[in-house]
Amino acid sequence: MTVEPPDTGSSGAGPADTDPLEALVARRGDAALETLAALRASDPPTTGGRVLSYVYDSGLEGVDRLAVRAAGLAHGVNGLDPTVFGSVARIHGGIVRRVRTILGGDAGDRPEGDDDEVHGVVTSGGTESCVLACLAAREVSGRAPGSGGTIVAPVTVHAAFRKAAHILGMRFVGVEVDPATGRVDAADLLAAVDHDTCLVVCSASSYPTGVIDPVEQVAAGLDAHHDPRIGLHVDACLGGLVLPFWPGGVGSTWDLRIDRVTSISADLHKYGFAPKGTSVLLSRGRVRHRASWFSTVDWPGYPVVNPTLSGSKPLEPAAAAWAVLEALGDDGQSELVARTARATGRLVEGLSRIEGLRVIDSDPGPLIAVVADGAVGDARRVHPHLWADECGRRGIAVQAQPAYRQERGALPSSSHLTITPVTERLTDEILDVARAAAEAVRGMPDPAPPAAFADVLVALDAGALSPDDLLALPEDEVHAMVAGVLAGDGDDGGMAPLLAAIERLPAEVGARLVRAYLAAVMEG
Ligand SMILES: *Cc1c(COP(=O)(O)O)cnc(C)c1O
Repeated sequence: MTVEPPDTGSSGAGPADTDPLEALVARRGDAALETLAALRASDPPTTGGRVLSYVYDSGLEGVDRLAVRAAGLAHGVNGLDPTVFGSVARIHGGIVRRVRTILGGDAGDRPEGDDDEVHGVVTSGGTESCVLACLAAREVSGRAPGSGGTIVAPVTVHAAFRKAAHILGMRFVGVEVDPATGRVDAADLLAAVDHDTCLVVCSASSYPTGVIDPVEQVAAGLDAHHDPRIGLHVDACLGGLVLPFWPGGVGSTWDLRIDRVTSISADLHKYGFAPKGTSVLLSRGRVRHRASWFSTVDWPGYPVVNPTLSGSKPLEPAAAAWAVLEALGDDGQSELVARTARATGRLVEGLSRIEGLRVIDSDPGPLIAVVADGAVGDARRVHPHLWADECGRRGIAVQAQPAYRQERGALPSSSHLTITPVTERLTDEILDVARAAAEAVRGMPDPAPPAAFADVLVALDAGALSPDDLLALPEDEVHAMVAGVLAGDGDDGGMAPLLAAIERLPAEVGARLVRAYLAAVMEG
């Protein structure tokens, strides 16, 4: 018996040479690729360090090349079914084991007598990991959706937990933080825990502030006084792969070595330097790990088991993330984080010297938040949103964050910088831009909302219009208002006016506004 080698379509006479559709598709495909390249050329650069949010650049071209090759090898696999595609179980398992080791979840790291092994699942990103942690908590608590089960967290926790509450029929209970430092008091957080609580969440680090929440104290309080079914999730989507490697080590105070921590999320597509689409949720014990899975045999199709929200899913992102983890190893990761830490230190030092701005004093980690310096007079103050827009015009993109209202006093308007290894090469350039941008806007009055919103804001302030009136406006009217702003401002208005509007509107109205804004951009 002779076995024919499989036809790879790359040599010899095969369907590729004879099917006329191949030639047609190749020609149109080339044109599509050309268009794509042109579109991408108008995006901000995803590598090179000039975009200080959204992207996480190792600064090593080899890492990106490796990720693309690994994704290519995984092309076409359906991660829906690891019983068919065995590589899925192996790749996911490899990622989970590596991250579990980094986050202190291996058997040897766990406290004496803890036989609850740590399990994990690979998800599409931080939001999905956080939503699944909340779903598991709801299920472990035995609460039905809509029955009042709560997620208790500092107000500085990532918005993904508010989204989880929205999707899962839970209630989000935000605990106020010190407006000057962004820190939550563990006692305040614990005071919000009651018989409705399914999950308490802490961040390491919190995205808007860079603060690492007091996980050890919260864990101790939960242990001593509360139902053991209440979960304690640490959102280390951002910090999970960078804090443990930070010079001096910033891990054991918030990770799985703390017995009471029941789950942790960590994003590979942040400080794992992997392409977008991979995060990990680690859970203590099989029950919690499996509580967020969905399975059914009650339909006429194949038996369904989904450990995550999606059905069919790619192996590409996970394969890329796995290959990058393997290639970097502990030593590579440590070196990249050391570069990140040096860059962060230099930028904090340089930014702190700019008159009119203040860097929020935060915990170790790669996040910087900058606010206006309240200690200088109006004439010398730098508004962080005007500053962010000016930095953007000079080729350095930083992220504006609106002020956040709470009863203890608002968290002020700020701008956010995410520092990555590549940033080290650019610290001088970034500081030059930061100084010039501050120079350009120093003493300027606070940004005003877009003119198109002026009438609405005046009516709101005067009480002629209530937030409910605004929420009742037909979608087409909201759309027209926002589309007008998009068309009117062009590129140069920056984000400051929109953020000024968000800061003045009730939060639900602001949410409606940004929804309309994105929709208008997508339709545009
Ligand atoms: C990025 C982030 C998330 C959400 O992750 P996505 O991957 O954007 O969905 C959640 N928590 C923190 C702290 C984050 O930084």
